[in-house]
Amino acid sequence: MADDTFTYNGGSVAPGERANIRYGISETYFGDPVRIPVTIINGERPGPTVFLSAAAHGDELNGIEVVRAVAHEWDLHSLAGTLVCLPVLNVPGFLAQQRYLPIYDRDLNRSFPGSQTSTNAKRMAHQIYTNFIEPCDLGLDFHTSTRGRTNMLHVRADVDDEAVRRLALAFGSRVIIAGEGPEGTLRREASRAGTPTITIEMGEAHRFQRELIDEALAGTESVLAEYGMLERSAVRWPGWRTVIDSTSDKTWIRSDVGGIVEMELEPGEMVEEGETICTITDPFMTEHTTVDAPFTGLLVGVLENPVVYPGNPLCHLAALDEPTQKLVR
Ligand SMILES: [Zn+2]
Repeated sequence: MADDTFTYNGGSVAPGERANIRYGISETYFGDPVRIPVTIINGERPGPTVFLSAAAHGDELNGIEVVRAVAHEWDLHSLAGTLVCLPVLNVPGFLAQQRYLPIYDRDLNRSFPGSQTSTNAKRMAHQIYTNFIEPCDLGLDFHTSTRGRTNMLHVRADVDDEAVRRLALAFGSRVIIAGEGPEGTLRREASRAGTPTITIEMGEAHRFQRELIDEALAGTESVLAEYGMLERSAVRWPGWRTVIDSTSDKTWIRSDVGGIVEMELEPGEMVEEGETICTITDPFMTEHTTVDAPFTGLLVGVLENPVVYPGNPLCHLAALDEPTQKLVR
């Protein structure tokens, strides 16, 4: 069974074993190791190797709980294949509770696949990538909206790639935003190199949102079912589904005035053309500006921090086709 042993630089995990590892990816100013937590669960039965990663942006917490629950709360005794669980990729950002790596504000999620001889961010990315991403057959990378905004749970994936498409559909989210993603993101670089990977966007930074975490756990279970890794689980169907691609109408609606925003709708709600999305008022509540939907669609994301300058985004609206509109209504 030597073939099914998971091997990384410094150790290995044989079939039927699990390991909690603190893996050094860099050093502090004191020369102490900067270590990421990694849990590897190697099932007794053969199957694919799948990574689950979170907090590549240090303040995006929802995914951490998803990855920890899979690794430490799920009954995986009949698992076929291997799970590589990486709950916190950006440890320095997590400790500072900020999105980027501290000091130079480098974005770890623009640094993949990394490099052994480049910047600190790229060296960290290289350690993570070569040891724990490259050996995998598939991957799920969990994110949230940027601070000050929130979004409904959705998948981002390059659905033009057949293998990525299969993974994206298997997660069973209602919304998939198509596209390969920016250069240097974990999902783009891993997918391009032969490890199909999708991003799951869920909610807002700096908090645990139980409903979204449970939804993401259901999606993860659905993925493991699709690839035959869990015995008694099934692939889920979300009731309706829309793939938003480059030809779909979608827009960030921006404020034309400065003011205080009263949002009428939640992320994930459908809004009809002409319906009011939010009202923006001045401090005396004498000036009211209403913002109406330019077309019928789904509010994928909305702002959380209810203050805007002219030009600030209010919400992310994506058009829905007629048949999907009927299903949502
Ligand atoms: Zn993120």
